[in-house]
Amino acid sequence: MEFKSMNLSENTPVIPEGDVEKVKCLIVGSGPAGYTAAIYAARANLNPVVIEGLQPGGQLTTTTEVDNFPGYPQGVTGPDMMADLKKQAERFGTDCRWGLVTAVDFSVYPHKVVVDEKKVIEAESVILATGATAKYLGFPTEEKYMGSGVSACATCDGFFYRGKDVAVVGGGDTAAEEATYLAGLCKKVYLIVRKPFLRASKAMQDRVFKTENIEVLFEHNTKELYGDGVVEGAKLIKRMGEADETEVDIKIDGFFVAIGHTPNSKVFADYLKTDDQGYVITEPDSTKTNVPGVFASGDLKDPHYRQAITSAGSGCMAAMDAERFLAERE
Ligand code: NDP
Repeated sequence: MEFKSMNLSENTPVIPEGDVEKVKCLIVGSGPAGYTAAIYAARANLNPVVIEGLQPGGQLTTTTEVDNFPGYPQGVTGPDMMADLKKQAERFGTDCRWGLVTAVDFSVYPHKVVVDEKKVIEAESVILATGATAKYLGFPTEEKYMGSGVSACATCDGFFYRGKDVAVVGGGDTAAEEATYLAGLCKKVYLIVRKPFLRASKAMQDRVFKTENIEVLFEHNTKELYGDGVVEGAKLIKRMGEADETEVDIKIDGFFVAIGHTPNSKVFADYLKTDDQGYVITEPDSTKTNVPGVFASGDLKDPHYRQAITSAGSGCMAAMDAERFLAERE
């Protein structure tokens, strides 16, 4: 097996000495990708161990209703769905553990993975499913109304705002796409853009400007949200810091933040090829990374679709890729 020269930085964490546990298939992350990989790996007798991370169940545990995952005709809450996926993985013998991967050494084989800075696991195959974290603006009322009007996923939550007025923050492709998606459901969509122009692609911009019920508020920043238990409006600042700065009040029921995602790839970044935003690059139509025996799935490698069902699909692919990798080594 060939390991390409690794671009190790001086900050690369040191692997601690001590007892080492040997594992055939280690899965890092516990969203739809991680648990689906576990279901497939367990059924293929790979005895998977899942390191669940700080937020077991992943991003979906912060959403309320999930209506677009096939198999739940009445919908399901995000936490219930993730509990179901975990139960299904455990039914076939998956060992799910709370813990955080704090360092890896993918320059050796079996690969070394450190959990909580002390426990070292040597894994014959590693499936990474650590997801991505939506960026938020970071002001106090945004956090207060999380799940009560504030969302970072229009495809997940837009349906609950049918016929209502909402706002989307951001000027990139995600914001433009979410605004046009919401415009098909909602009465009115404000697109709050901090600059005097959109960063989104020309085609996406054209769609935004052609959609009658989208109003683009250029050079606006959000100051705060207000409402009695749920979002009822937002206070914006127009031309913040300029002589003609003014406060603008909009009445909205939903506030969608679309200012980008951060893939959770930092701990692997010294070993894996990533794009300029940190998404792990895999071979086309595969979950293989540049390191043999290390596979990436879910939002960690997907800046485009970012859905529970697409993550689950790539988790399945990663388990099958890992199984083939191990079979070829025997
Ligand atoms: P981007 O990084 O492209 O855009 C983020 C947007 O959010 C920018 O307009 C930025 O403003 C704004 N923003 C960032 N921080 C703040 C803040 N604190 N307050 C207000 N606004 C803020 O992220 P996207 O998620 O839109 O896209 C990520 C990648 O995925 C891109 O490469 C994109 O092309 C791709 N993508 C492609 C799609 C497609 O092809 N269908 C769909 C969705 C995404 P500013 O411009 O001022 O920096």
